Amino acid sequence: MEVLVRASLFARRMTRTAYGLVLTFALAALIVTGSATAPVGIVSLGAILVWTVLLARRLRAKLRLTGDASFLLDFELGALLAVGLDAALLRFDGTLSGRFSPAIYVLVALVASFGRPGPGLAVVAWVVGLDALIRHFTLGETSWEALATQAGFALAFALLNFVLLRAEVSRIRVNARAGVARELERLRDDARSYRLLGAGEASAQPQPQNQRGVAVSNGSPGSLGSTEERLARSSVEEIHQSVHYALELLRRTLDLHTAVLLWRTDAGTHLRISELSTGSEAIHDAPFSLGDGVLAAVLAKKEAVLLENLRPSYKVPYYEGPCPVRALAALPVLDDGVVRGVLAIDRVENRPFTPHEHEIVAQAARYCLRAIQNERVFVQLERAKVEQGKLYRAAQALGAAMSEKDVVEAGVRAAREIASFDLAAVTTWDESAKVHEISAARSEAGEIERLVGQRFRNNTGLVSMVVTNRFPLPYKGEFDPAHQVVLSKRLPWPSIPSLLVLPLLHHGRPLGTLILGAKRRHAFGDSVRPTLEVLASHLAVSLSNARMVQKLETMATTDGMTGLLNKRAMLDQAVQKVAAAQRFGRKLSVLIVDIDFFKNVNDTFGHDVGDVVIKGLGEILKRQKRTTDVVARFGGEEFVVLCEQTDEAGALLLGERIREELERAVFTTAMGAVKVTCSVGSATFPEGGAKWEDLFKGADESLYVSKRTGRNRVTAWQPPNAARSKAG
Ligand code: GH3
Ligand code: MG
Ligand code: MG
Repeated sequence: MEVLVRASLFARRMTRTAYGLVLTFALAALIVTGSATAPVGIVSLGAILVWTVLLARRLRAKLRLTGDASFLLDFELGALLAVGLDAALLRFDGTLSGRFSPAIYVLVALVASFGRPGPGLAVVAWVVGLDALIRHFTLGETSWEALATQAGFALAFALLNFVLLRAEVSRIRVNARAGVARELERLRDDARSYRLLGAGEASAQPQPQNQRGVAVSNGSPGSLGSTEERLARSSVEEIHQSVHYALELLRRTLDLHTAVLLWRTDAGTHLRISELSTGSEAIHDAPFSLGDGVLAAVLAKKEAVLLENLRPSYKVPYYEGPCPVRALAALPVLDDGVVRGVLAIDRVENRPFTPHEHEIVAQAARYCLRAIQNERVFVQLERAKVEQGKLYRAAQALGAAMSEKDVVEAGVRAAREIASFDLAAVTTWDESAKVHEISAARSEAGEIERLVGQRFRNNTGLVSMVVTNRFPLPYKGEFDPAHQVVLSKRLPWPSIPSLLVLPLLHHGRPLGTLILGAKRRHAFGDSVRPTLEVLASHLAVSLSNARMVQKLETMATTDGMTGLLNKRAMLDQAVQKVAAAQRFGRKLSVLIVDIDFFKNVNDTFGHDVGDVVIKGLGEILKRQKRTTDVVARFGGEEFVVLCEQTDEAGALLLGERIREELERAVFTTAMGAVKVTCSVGSATFPEGGAKWEDLFKGADESLYVSKRTGRNRVTAWQPPNAARSKAG
């Protein structure tokens, strides 16, 4: 059953895809069998109808496609056209070698132009094959020579067309790409010449290319480059609109031939047409040297220059060929006392510009300048807004980070939003030990990760200098690997051209540095350094907060004298451990250690000596405990040890080891050698108590037994009856 269904589905699919091919073959067979040369009948009319409908359907399918057509579709189209053409040739010429026979080459060229090479070749084969069949069966010709010529020409046409067309397409693509790149570069130049972008900005960054190789502005959407450049681009367009409006108005009002604003290029060496309104067809659009005729005079005098009675031989820089005007006025456009541009107006009539007209032009020049200045302010404000947004997000992320590690991570992430870099590291500075430590390092290629945890003394390297002087280094973020050391000579830093070491200052105190490195030049220019400095100060505050939190946490849970846990932290853990022992059915032992006759130590040698003894016992406990044991100073000279998965025998063994080591220990103090002993009591879960309180009470009772029975001994908890019987 399944086989039948599959077979029927296959058949249906085949019919749907192959019916065109089948019909084409059928039409070709009709021609070969002579219907194209026979008198017109119902068969020929039917064949024409089928051919027309099929061709229309295939053409429609091809035109609707956006990408390349399938092999089958291209082949069917070509084959159908060849069938139609052959039928027509036979019908009207009666032969395939008549006047219209070269039409077949046109067809082949057409298929080669619009299809891919594969179907093109298949169509050539079809044309030649059909030709051979028709000649042999329909016309009874046996001239293989004619066939060979036909085949050779068809193939040559196809190949020639294919090659020429592809070459043309790729030439157009290359030109279009270059055009887009030129347009973008021009916009960037404009932005820089209007001082919307800093010198070297944007273009100094590598230009990512999209799949077709066209430079896609500067960086991916949302990246630094694209935001900056989009902003500058929209401002350039805004300036051009305003200036164009002013020039157009000027030209119409004063009956001018041309009103043009020339602006200094980014390098300042040339003037270029920024915008113009003109009736002339012969405008020279290349940058002009500052020394060119009338322009040189305006730039030198910083004053308007008025010319009349101009002759065709006079050279006006912005006109190609002879001078078409008789009167010309050129005004300097001063920005911050510097001539940034020249506003030139001229007219064909030899009518000098009146003072009134002169004043109108001066106003227009001021208007153009204001348009540029406004955009400059706008770009700066927008840029500040963008930077503030980044810093705001950075502050939020840093504020949410609690641990030192999280703070460093959030800081590096935030820095990435501000500047693009390949390496980042954070060093911390230990003021008291005068030592730097690399606490984090991140790089794309893993070049600096091995530095984490390395320490180095204060030296003449950049990190040390930054911590000492509290000022970012190196100058302008340009690194000279041959002469500068970043960390220390022992810890080499990759040789990359851009580097920035920022101090992490908190209340003016250096906590360490943030190091950023990039493999491209000028990565840390003026546009990003100030923001990175602000970020570094945020980072320093968060780092200091994280350390404070860490310190408070430690203080809240440890005993200052011994560094062991304090009573509160121990109680937190004890309840959890009893619950865990209960859940997993494990043993858990508690030991209480108390120094014997400690009051005597205090009374005889003083409290300080007493403290030395307490610390000494603390050290013994740290040494004797296993990693899973928890030790706390419970108060005074009393310590508690919690041992997971330890039964009574284990607890007694540990207690005995502690007791013995203390008994052997001699504490050397200012008052001489001191020796003490201790008593230990233990209780084991669950026999000694099913709840923490009971367990602790059991251990305390055992301690009391140790004290009562002579001290300097270890006692495990016994059930009341047993204890009584032992005491009895
Ligand atoms: P026992 O053998 O019965 O334990 O006698 P003891 O003298 O050791 O008695 P107890 O354990 O009750 O005495 C604890 C003494 O420890 C009381 C107190 O003066 C002293 N002490 C408590 N805390 C400190 C401390 O931090 N430093 C010093 N030097 N002494 C402390
Ligand atoms: Mg004591
Ligand atoms: Mg005590």
